[in-house]
Amino acid sequence: MMHSYFSEFYKKSKAERTKALLDAGVISKEDLLFLSKNPHLNDQLADHMIENQLTQYALPLGVALNFLVDDKNYIVPMVTEEPSVIAAASSAAKLIAKANGFKTHLTQRKMIGQVALKNVPDVSFALRELNLHKDAILKKANDAHPSIVKRGGGADELEFRSILETDHSPHFLVVHIHVHVLEAMGANIVNTMMEAVSFYLETLTKGTALMSILSNYATECLATATCQIPVDLLDRGSYKGEEVRDLIIEASQFAYVDPYRATTHNKGIMNGVDAVVLATGNDWRAIEAGAHAYAAKSGQYRSLSHWVKAGNGDLKGSLTLPLPVGYVGGSIGIHPTAQFSQRLLSVKNAKELESVIVSVGLAQNFAALRALVTEGIQKGHMGLHAKSLAISAGASGSDIELVATELKKSTHMNLETASKILSSIYP
Ligand code: NDP
Repeated sequence: MMHSYFSEFYKKSKAERTKALLDAGVISKEDLLFLSKNPHLNDQLADHMIENQLTQYALPLGVALNFLVDDKNYIVPMVTEEPSVIAAASSAAKLIAKANGFKTHLTQRKMIGQVALKNVPDVSFALRELNLHKDAILKKANDAHPSIVKRGGGADELEFRSILETDHSPHFLVVHIHVHVLEAMGANIVNTMMEAVSFYLETLTKGTALMSILSNYATECLATATCQIPVDLLDRGSYKGEEVRDLIIEASQFAYVDPYRATTHNKGIMNGVDAVVLATGNDWRAIEAGAHAYAAKSGQYRSLSHWVKAGNGDLKGSLTLPLPVGYVGGSIGIHPTAQFSQRLLSVKNAKELESVIVSVGLAQNFAALRALVTEGIQKGHMGLHAKSLAISAGASGSDIELVATELKKSTHMNLETASKILSSIYP
């Protein structure tokens, strides 16, 4: 049913695309009006969001199609400056939808706060005291943010880590508090709690608190997406499905053992993840930092996703990421386009948003690996990059398409060629 509205979506004009979204019931008439105004932040809001504000910096927001996640269809808003990200995500999602889509699994949504204590005179004594006063510490943390407790969340677990002295650093006794942050990302909630317990922890341990803040290494808030693709869906040009499957598995193995490749492999995943995180008003630096730390959890920086052969010969993919995104809080509630993204995506809570984002990451990864091990990435990439080159050369209006089309046929697809093509139109 949805398909008829969205067929050849990329060929439609912007007005036709928004109309298709309206007709398919994905957006409302109010949303259509919102989009027609080319929304910016109102200047007063922008001025309040950051310090020393001068102007606004625009990026395009587009939609990836065809996402089937846990048996629900999604149109996914993505904000990115990079051509080919949305096309790759949509094409991978279309193929994976034919194979029952993505299935996701989420842990509970807990954030970790840290108080780092130094100069602790007797670590065994300090650990005894901390263990004896666990309930009192948790109570102090929760008393500092009663509203999250009232909503059903709050601090409920403590962990103590003793990090030994080295030639370059003193001994640290680190207290972790785990906090259920419910629908929020939770940075401010956790920071408030950690600062509130800091003095009490100093009193108990007789140490000195160096700092009190959340950790962006959100290992208590993980999202996993999996998919399983039959080989008959993997045929590509002269490549047979079995061959594509085996090459993707080898590409995954290469990224697991080589940090140089793993970095680029994970960058491809984050192309999709960041774009949705940004579109939904979330803190992409937090997600980036957590993802890369998680990639290094074994002591070596490795690939975040894994592709293996299933028992029946299918290609099986999985991706796990720390994904502490919020559905409320931060600037989500005040940024009109972030709110539009939430409506467009039609997710009901932070967990559902996690499921979509981790699936987008896996789709992006599949698209990149499939291209890399078959025709190479440049064919699709440069095709879409042609328009940017045409614009950089000075083309506008219908000339952009004209120059881009000629550029794709040229041997050297670069700015110089684009300029030459443009000059040949207007000699
Ligand atoms: P907020 O400070 O906006 O807190 C979210 C608030 O939403 C809660 O305090 C709560 O207030 C309210 N709320 C309403 N409904 C719910 C619900 N169902 N579940 C949870 N909360 C609810 O944001 P966060 O604490 O999430 O912090 C995120 C912000 O912090 C981001 O902007 C981030 O960039 C920034 N930040 C990030 C850091 C990092 O990553 N290292 C460090 C510092 C800041 P109430 O219950 O009182 O109504």
